[in-house]
Amino acid sequence: MMDRNMLLSSAAAEIVLAGKKTIALTGAGISVASGIPAFRGMGGLWEKYDPEEYATIEAFHKDPAKVWQMLKEFKEVIEKARPNPAHLALAKLEQLGYLRAIITQNVDGLHQEAGNTNVIEFHGNNRQVVCLKCGSKYPSKNLVLEKLPPSCACGGVLKPDAVFFGEPIPWEALSRSHSEAQSCHVVLVIGTSAVVEPAASIPYIARRAGAKIIEVNPERALSADIFLRGPAEEIMPMLVEEVARISA
Ligand SMILES: [Zn+2]
Repeated sequence: MMDRNMLLSSAAAEIVLAGKKTIALTGAGISVASGIPAFRGMGGLWEKYDPEEYATIEAFHKDPAKVWQMLKEFKEVIEKARPNPAHLALAKLEQLGYLRAIITQNVDGLHQEAGNTNVIEFHGNNRQVVCLKCGSKYPSKNLVLEKLPPSCACGGVLKPDAVFFGEPIPWEALSRSHSEAQSCHVVLVIGTSAVVEPAASIPYIARRAGAKIIEVNPERALSADIFLRGPAEEIMPMLVEEVARISA
């Protein structure tokens, strides 16, 4: 199977090299090897916490202290996580001049930590918190969570700057991702089955505009032009090495 993937990653590398305008769409699968389980997967937060009670904006407004119990646990997981070889491969692809943007469903900030500079976050991020009263933002790293919920100097409740169920996707992320999709030559879909909107539309917006789709997933989820089966942390370094080798 590795042989098959090596052949296919050569083909995928050729497509990336031909285009020069590649974008990546990433989801939870890319961060599993960094120690962040998918919310709905094994060991995921939703095994322990009912998303209805913990992940909706209504639940947050009703009882922020309760929801912060879960957020505190998630924050500890995220703060321990480091970029894995898949994140680093995408950073290298940008350095090589072949990756223009990453559109992600993740809130862990690992793409930025790996070194990517144009990251569009559909679901916001957990690196900062926002005051619900005055709108001030703070880095969540320095947050003291002895008394829950944490509060702003103005007395308002602080909430992670991530999108909860029931909240709209940030307009700017939507608009930027659509224009990237409309003007790219290749979409790399990595670690997401891309069934949930707005991510679901991205590969097809790109395809209608003439782009090719390369999928990297343990199980096939899309009708991609090239499907590379396996975990992102194994496939992505192989693919980017191939791009580097051919372009050298
Ligand atoms: Zn405030």
